[in-house]
Amino acid sequence: MTPALSLSEIQDFKGKYPKQLWWLFFSEMWERFSFYGMRGVLTFFMVNQLMMAERTANLQYGATQAFVYAFTFVGGLFADKILGFRKSLFWGGTLMVVGSLILATDPKAYFFLGIAFNIVGTGFFKPNISTMVGALYKDDDVRRDAGFSLFYSGINVGALLGGYLCVYLGKNYSWNVAFALTAVVMTISVLTFARSQRLMGPIGLTPGHALPDASKRKWMEYATYGGSLLVIPVIMNMVSKTDLTDYFMYTIGPLTLLYVGWEMTKCTPDERKKLAAAMVFILFSIIFWAFFEQSGGSLSLFAANNLGDRLLGLKVDPNGVNNSSNSFFVILFAPLVGLIWVALAKKKLEPNTVVKFGLGFLFLAAAFWIFYATRFFANEQGITSLNVFTSATLVITFGELCLSPIGLSIMTKLSPRPLQGVMMGMWFLASAYGQYVAGLLGAGMTSPAQNASAMDKLMSYTAGYQTLAGYALVAGIVLIALAPLVRKLMGEVK
Ligand code: GLN
Repeated sequence: MTPALSLSEIQDFKGKYPKQLWWLFFSEMWERFSFYGMRGVLTFFMVNQLMMAERTANLQYGATQAFVYAFTFVGGLFADKILGFRKSLFWGGTLMVVGSLILATDPKAYFFLGIAFNIVGTGFFKPNISTMVGALYKDDDVRRDAGFSLFYSGINVGALLGGYLCVYLGKNYSWNVAFALTAVVMTISVLTFARSQRLMGPIGLTPGHALPDASKRKWMEYATYGGSLLVIPVIMNMVSKTDLTDYFMYTIGPLTLLYVGWEMTKCTPDERKKLAAAMVFILFSIIFWAFFEQSGGSLSLFAANNLGDRLLGLKVDPNGVNNSSNSFFVILFAPLVGLIWVALAKKKLEPNTVVKFGLGFLFLAAAFWIFYATRFFANEQGITSLNVFTSATLVITFGELCLSPIGLSIMTKLSPRPLQGVMMGMWFLASAYGQYVAGLLGAGMTSPAQNASAMDKLMSYTAGYQTLAGYALVAGIVLIALAPLVRKLMGEVK
């Protein structure tokens, strides 16, 4: 295919956003619909349909999500070295459609197989679409953060719709229909991406690294497709046995660190410093996601066991609210947070990225303190206020907005081009560890008593949330204290 537009024609766009961003926005929106639709169903489905104990379901949830995000590193790596971003996205999207169709056919019988397809598919899709957003901008374009904020809103429109609809359909109609919906929506995502091709010029066509000759490259591509299919049964096995997940998590992190360390030896000193700064962001984001991601695990069970069904007087599904309120608030407040940064920048008061990350942790601490405080609003049956709970998801959202879209953007700023896919993969790998630890934390919070009452569960989970609030506060303070040092490593990057 001859690229119709050149890179500079794309990057020299007028106005606030490049038009290509909208295509990526919608494609990612539908992908996240499908992803969060499925994620919101997992723990509930495991406990109520697969009859797993809550503790096991928490661990299993953590394992699934850990693998999803761990594969983003693999997906980023293969995009950088062999496939390029575009082919990676098509391949990942197709695997996700197949995974959803498998689940739609018989979710109980093929649960782990369908999930394994989705894990590998997301790995090829998720990091690479984010890196493509970064590629729409020149290195020094100040509009990049705004682009990522918009993209992040798209993520959350999808997450909101999928997170509410799928669990609702599953609980009230049929789980097959819920999973069939994710398949349809994922197909729309792939078709949307296909339509964007003519506007993308050379972006994503070739990997960041120098290419081998054409025939060798074809074989490497086939090997990547074949290898990713072969790995599916292995993952299926590993996700269903969480102790295998433990071994995987113990090895993948150190290995990737070694790999990035080796890549760093080939960089200039300036690039090395920037990559070191990127690693600080990545390491702290592990802690952030470990707490934040209680939402799909322990908070999902908390919602099912301990939350009332009235939100501002309206009758709603508490699990649906847990799955989607955060996204709703992101969509509502992302523009406001953007404006606050711009207003502060005008007064020369805008905090730098490190301090923004630190603020993210302070919001996280406040939110977990509110989750803890829900125990003071409970009735004798251990059912507490959905309003108070939802106010915590509002506060946590501000924390996320200080960290997550900015994290995506900073990865694309701090990484040299041949390592952009890998570093975006590292960013999401941190989420993998976060998810994994989230599952462990959630399992540790479950009430040890057999046949625990709703009140026992309330006390046990909220005690856990109080502890997390304390840790988040400490992390925030440490990060803010480290800000001057990390800023030095970042050089001219803000
Ligand atoms: N909610 C965001 C998304 O789905 C961030 C997820 C993450 O990095 N853990 O893209």
